[in-house]
Amino acid sequence: MPAPAYPDLVNKLQRAHLLGTVSDVLGWDEQVNLPPDSGDQRAAQLTLLAELSHTTATDPAIGQLLTALEAGPLGAEERVVVRQARRDYDRATKLPADFVREKAGHCSRAYHAWADARARDDFAAYAPFLEKHLELAKREAAYLGHGAAPYDYYIDLSDPGMNAARIETLFTELKAGLVPLVRKIAASPVKARRDLLQGCPVAQQDIFLREVTGKLGFDYRRGRIDVSVHPFCSGTGSDTRMTTRFDVNDPLKALFGSIHETGHGLYEQGLPREHAGTALGIHAGMGVHESQSRLWENQVARGRPFWKHFEPRFRELFPSQTADVSAEQLYLAINAVKPTLIRVDADEVTYNLHIILRFELEQRLFRGELDVAGLSAAWKQASRDLLGLEPANNREGVLQDIHWSGGAFGYFPSYCLGNMLAAQLWYRALGLMPDLEQDFARGDFSKLLGWLRREVHARGRRLLLLDLAREVTGEDLTPKYLLRYLHERYATLYHVRP
Ligand code: ZN
Repeated sequence: MPAPAYPDLVNKLQRAHLLGTVSDVLGWDEQVNLPPDSGDQRAAQLTLLAELSHTTATDPAIGQLLTALEAGPLGAEERVVVRQARRDYDRATKLPADFVREKAGHCSRAYHAWADARARDDFAAYAPFLEKHLELAKREAAYLGHGAAPYDYYIDLSDPGMNAARIETLFTELKAGLVPLVRKIAASPVKARRDLLQGCPVAQQDIFLREVTGKLGFDYRRGRIDVSVHPFCSGTGSDTRMTTRFDVNDPLKALFGSIHETGHGLYEQGLPREHAGTALGIHAGMGVHESQSRLWENQVARGRPFWKHFEPRFRELFPSQTADVSAEQLYLAINAVKPTLIRVDADEVTYNLHIILRFELEQRLFRGELDVAGLSAAWKQASRDLLGLEPANNREGVLQDIHWSGGAFGYFPSYCLGNMLAAQLWYRALGLMPDLEQDFARGDFSKLLGWLRREVHARGRRLLLLDLAREVTGEDLTPKYLLRYLHERYATLYHVRP
């Protein structure tokens, strides 16, 4: 028997969630459809919705219901819902209004300062804004009772239950295996070409990516894919909106971007809809979300079985463009590895080093071991050590990402944690279903999706990243499977000795 206050709480959470979905659709529309001069009204609409959402989420009745529920006996599922609702309620109510206003104002100013500093390659002009962001971040953590460990507070926002010490252990092991591999690939005589496929019409690319993502299991009856400048996936399982962007001289960009977003979309579509708005119906955190996109994008879609099935259709749609391209050249282009200074252009091997670099710098900033003034030089040094490349300027270095300009600290590690979990899930799935890749070669991805639905998607937020990894794979989260996967795929392809 649920406690009487419980249905009341669920009802209030669902109303708040529904309001959020309205903002999602308007936000999606802003990126995809909005006429160029209609931005002012959209901004006003979104501001009004944000106010309504805040009022709904901070309703004192929620606080009273939570206090009553926390005092009484709760079932396991109710405990999961109440725990998350408490986190959200405290975060919405414990920050003073003055502070929220100050932070919002600073975010806006800092974004413009970053964009301007980046254009002029002037880190010194941006540094005071970043310093202020760090100060605000520490104050925010203190308001929420985490003044002693502000960086952990931010990590926990992206990946509940995770902390910097645990990430440091994981990343140290990953780095030790990854840096030598990247060096060897960079020195390999095998060079992939990404300019093999010129002049591929958008219409054909669009046909192909819809066929692929549909076969992977994306449900187009409750989701869409459209075009936007910055690809993303938003919405919920009831209405999942993905976007992509096309490059006629590199059809692999839109394809792999779409498969990545499809992984996010499949997760959303697999969450239990009857629990939408409570912790039983939402994803387990950014790291787990990213594991779903990376698993489909990398382990599945960069593999030979996947291409055994899709390559004939790809050639049929692009006959002249692929006429002089061998199957091996195509496969190499799909798995091109080349260290680059820019994170968003990085391949799946070096990408992790970009994340480790950012994590290590954030950690030193929060510990006070590094001043903002010294950040540009520290970035260059770390880039040399990790990637073997030194940025010629700050645009290729410390000014390249938007994240810090919005005060988004502790967010980067999720990408790499997601890569680790993806590989760990992958080997677990292969162990349980050894014929999985034979299915892929026939164009059947249903077994893998069914397994992910049961083991990951259906759980909602019942288990957080670390517990989920242990429960589903029988082992603690570890970088060893990511290293194994990267070696298995890339050492042979690039003729690298172990
Ligand atoms: Zn993603």
